[in-house]
Amino acid sequence: MRLIFVGPQGSGKGTQAKRIAKRFGFCHISSGDLLREVTGDLKLEVDKFMNKGDLVPDELIVRILKERLKKVDCKKGFILDGFPRNVSQVKELAKITDIDKVVEISISDEESIKRISGRRNCVKCGAIFNVNSSPRPKVEGVCDKCGGELVQRADDNEKALKERLKVYHKETERILKMYKFMRVNGNNSIEKVEADIVEGVGLG
Ligand code: AMP
Repeated sequence: MRLIFVGPQGSGKGTQAKRIAKRFGFCHISSGDLLREVTGDLKLEVDKFMNKGDLVPDELIVRILKERLKKVDCKKGFILDGFPRNVSQVKELAKITDIDKVVEISISDEESIKRISGRRNCVKCGAIFNVNSSPRPKVEGVCDKCGGELVQRADDNEKALKERLKVYHKETERILKMYKFMRVNGNNSIEKVEADIVEGVGLG
């Protein structure tokens, strides 16, 4: 099964992609994570775009994604989380692979801003918490799982988030017109959203 999850920042697409990929043995490919793992001189270049909330150049992310899809853990299927994000990326993806289902997880901009402003990431194990909702860390600033420090992502500040939402509405939403897609309500609980996706894409 080859899936794409689309949704605004904080819609929970990363959380859902992780859960469903683990449950069904697919690989979870987060384009944002792939870009955050870039090192060396290229990292400086990538950070210039990411920290402002702008998309990195298509050619770069397409190249990175192509390599990732070749890895053995993607054999049984994959979930793309954060890619494609514009029309040209849809066209590039079509040259690389077919896609079975596209899922849009929808939430309002207000909800997105609320969720993202509370998001905290563990610097050590990458676990994600939320000081405004769940999962809330038991001790402020400390990861429940490994004791690592919890920090806010550089692009989770208000200015960058506004830009990211603008890009989402202007560019990413347009890609939904290029696919037959199903929409799930991202305001529901994590379990309910997961169940809706699993049923909707025919995995249930
Ligand atoms: P995310 O972790 O999905 O919120 O992505 C964080 C940032 O990574 C975005 O704001 C972009 O700067 C960059 N990024 C992630 N995916 C893509 C993509 N498909 N194309 C271009 N830039 C991307």
